[in-house]
Amino acid sequence: YKNNVIRNQNNLVLKEKNKELILAKNKAEEASRARTEFLSTVSHELRTPLNAINGIAHLLLEENPKESQLKYLDSLKFSGNYLTTFINEILEINKIDSSKIEIEKISFDLKALLNNIQNSLKELAAANNNHFLLEIDDAIPDNLIGDTTKLSQIILNLINNALKFTQNGKVTVTAKLYALENEQAIVYFEITDTGIGIAKDKQKKVFESFSQGSVEVNRKYGGTGLGLTIVKKLIHLLGGKIHLESEVGKGSTFSFKLNFDISKNISKNTEETQP
Ligand code: ADP
Repeated sequence: YKNNVIRNQNNLVLKEKNKELILAKNKAEEASRARTEFLSTVSHELRTPLNAINGIAHLLLEENPKESQLKYLDSLKFSGNYLTTFINEILEINKIDSSKIEIEKISFDLKALLNNIQNSLKELAAANNNHFLLEIDDAIPDNLIGDTTKLSQIILNLINNALKFTQNGKVTVTAKLYALENEQAIVYFEITDTGIGIAKDKQKKVFESFSQGSVEVNRKYGGTGLGLTIVKKLIHLLGGKIHLESEVGKGSTFSFKLNFDISKNISKNTEETQP
């Protein structure tokens, strides 16, 4: 009887503790929802007047401004662009955090996707006098299925950083077939640069919002400090995990693995439809 009483008492205590935990969790979720909603409203409200400011700066720059005005207009354009990027990135993070983002399944050819990305960044690579190489494993099936928008966003962001923090160097994007299993292809991606590198004590922090390498790096290169936060969240959303290896003065390698379904082979389909 005594044991039963003790057990009942323990159960009651546990039940109370569970209730408290659930209440605390609900409160935290409510606070997080409120924050997300607030940020989303503010960001949307800021976007409209900002578009007007950017548009006017653009128009004035086209009107042959005087030399003395050019400096101010360039500064206006730069700040406007920075704020636009910043707001768009906040909205993107909010969208991911509030689980309002859907994962698309599109059939695509990874080689073509990476070639397109390389073409779109040719000028940026040339601006810093960088070699920009693609190394794509021929064994990767050319009929993968995946969220090409998010994959492009991830890779573009990482290459942009690599090209930004590297001068007279090399940026290489590698895609290797890691495994073929259960009708899925696991692809290993690596974005390597020979740029300035990231100090050991900053390597975890660069994935946190608003975190940048160092004050000097930030002053020199600019940026919002949100790009890698988005990259990490998107990779996570697609079921992967990002890794970073880096050495100051030598360069950085960002890598991750992703699973893709493989769409039914077109030639196989034709065979099936043949009499
Ligand atoms: P930012 O907009 O500042 O580039 P990110 O989140 O993309 O924001 O990156 C955060 C910081 O990580 C950068 O400010 C930079 O210090 C460091 N970083 C990111 N990628 C690289 C890279 N390839 N080489 C060196 N430093 C990098």
